[in-house]
Amino acid sequence: MSTSGDDHVSVLRGVPVVGGVRYAPVIRPGRLPGPDDENAPPADPSAEAERFRAAVTAVADRLRGRAARTSGPAAEVLSATATLAEDRAWLGAAEKRIAAGSSAEQAVRAAVAQFTDLFTKMGGLMAERVTDLQDIRDRVVADLRGMPEPGVPLPDVPSILCADDLAPADTAGLDPSLVVGLATSKGGPTSHTAIIARQLGIPCVVAVGGLDAVAAGEMVLIDGTAGTVAVAPDPSAAAEAVTSARRADERTAHWSGPGATADGHPVGILANVADGAAARAARQTPAEGVGLFRTELCFLDRETEPTVDEQARTYGEVLEAFAGHKVVIRTLDAGSDKPLGFAGQPEEANPALGVRGIRIARDNPGLLDRQLTAIAAAADATGNRPWVMAPMIATADEAREFASAVRDHRLTPGVMVEVPAAALLADRILEHVEFLSIGTNDLAQYTMAADRMSAELATLTDPWQPAVLALVAAAARAGGAAGKPVGVCGEAAADPLLACVLVGLGVTSLSAASAAIGSVGARLARARLAQCREAADAVLACAGAEEARSAARAVLG
Ligand code: PEP
Ligand code: MG
Repeated sequence: MSTSGDDHVSVLRGVPVVGGVRYAPVIRPGRLPGPDDENAPPADPSAEAERFRAAVTAVADRLRGRAARTSGPAAEVLSATATLAEDRAWLGAAEKRIAAGSSAEQAVRAAVAQFTDLFTKMGGLMAERVTDLQDIRDRVVADLRGMPEPGVPLPDVPSILCADDLAPADTAGLDPSLVVGLATSKGGPTSHTAIIARQLGIPCVVAVGGLDAVAAGEMVLIDGTAGTVAVAPDPSAAAEAVTSARRADERTAHWSGPGATADGHPVGILANVADGAAARAARQTPAEGVGLFRTELCFLDRETEPTVDEQARTYGEVLEAFAGHKVVIRTLDAGSDKPLGFAGQPEEANPALGVRGIRIARDNPGLLDRQLTAIAAAADATGNRPWVMAPMIATADEAREFASAVRDHRLTPGVMVEVPAAALLADRILEHVEFLSIGTNDLAQYTMAADRMSAELATLTDPWQPAVLALVAAAARAGGAAGKPVGVCGEAAADPLLACVLVGLGVTSLSAASAAIGSVGARLARARLAQCREAADAVLACAGAEEARSAARAVLG
């Protein structure tokens, strides 16, 4: 993801997985065995094969030993890794190479590469097993060289573990009283790191840009709700952030929904999900429904369009997880930072301003129609009829055409407000659709003319920018006048203080990553509607993002 500067402190950004704020020194996993310089073929291939098998057995035995010393999912992960270490397919591939004259180490590397290539091509959950196999490779190679096993050091003081990606065997053995935060530069929300971090309740951020440059011993402040890692922050400010987050955590733990202000003004608190697994995880939180299902994320690795049946099954999983609850499905938002192999997008000099989102339907209306057919089939199969919204709507005509296509499938149409034009003409768009959902990530990018992926411009794409919030206010006002709901589903909704401001601006629901649901709901439950409105007025009168934050804090505490 990205980096932003706050005077001297560099704040690295990633994907939030487990909430919580911790301030501690960094530890890094032990060194991996370096590249193999020995190219000489072994004198005796059968002795080399023996050496290989002994190393594999030693690695598998050690993993099983650690599994026996832990319990629950951690033990399962360790046993599964031990089983994978002895999997016949990759062992056979390595042995074949040794028989043909390779050294054991070269054979291990080549056989693992063969299977990781295959898993990567298969994508999805299989691709996430690549880390497991690479971990086994490193352990076996270390054993072959007589080196200590690579892995997480046991720290003397509570520490934050930073790594490329963590091997399941490393995360499974973690002691949460010593490893108090986890940050990885790779990995996704369903990686082993994320699964184990959730189980252990360790604040965790994955896919953190710039993490590789953070050395062991450096003090960092990790915020698992905001998805940030601040490097070398001011110690007293960091300690204060930890204390106030602890207090908030205590309140969050007691918040069970439904969403409302302290004086009972209802606000839907919904979850952003990427697939069925994420929806099932979100169902474990007090989220009242799904406010944004990013369907394109299900198919990023696909070169050919998924069939209507396959799409219907995928969407049905989310509808089933939230049976009887509101679900908002967004049609494919392909393009720009999320290219889809099958969307037939042209090469463009400026893809963020190009054919993305709903614009793909101009040349390829069948793609949208088949997706709507699949959503309707999923609705019929599950008995849960979702709301359906289009990304990147810029004009009322686009909204009208989209709404008519959605209604043809007996579904409820809405649109996202991500383009300033849509916020400015929200009243005219609302003549055609039943709801709006504001995507503050893109709305900030297009309002401020600043690439949302740019680390240098992160202060411009800050959703606290008063210009962005003025457009949110315009859309919310139009919704209020039309008597139609206007939600926010961009990252702004995951910031508890900003969430109160959004409600004050007239927003009727907030949709955020599961990790943020509790803190947003609990924060809103402490603010009265009049306070939210006062904070909203104060923020709109500000000249910049930092000033807006302070103004909101002054009103909301
Ligand atoms: C947004 O732009 O705020 C949004 C929710 O959409 P995405 O982040 O998927 O572009
Ligand atoms: Mg967007």
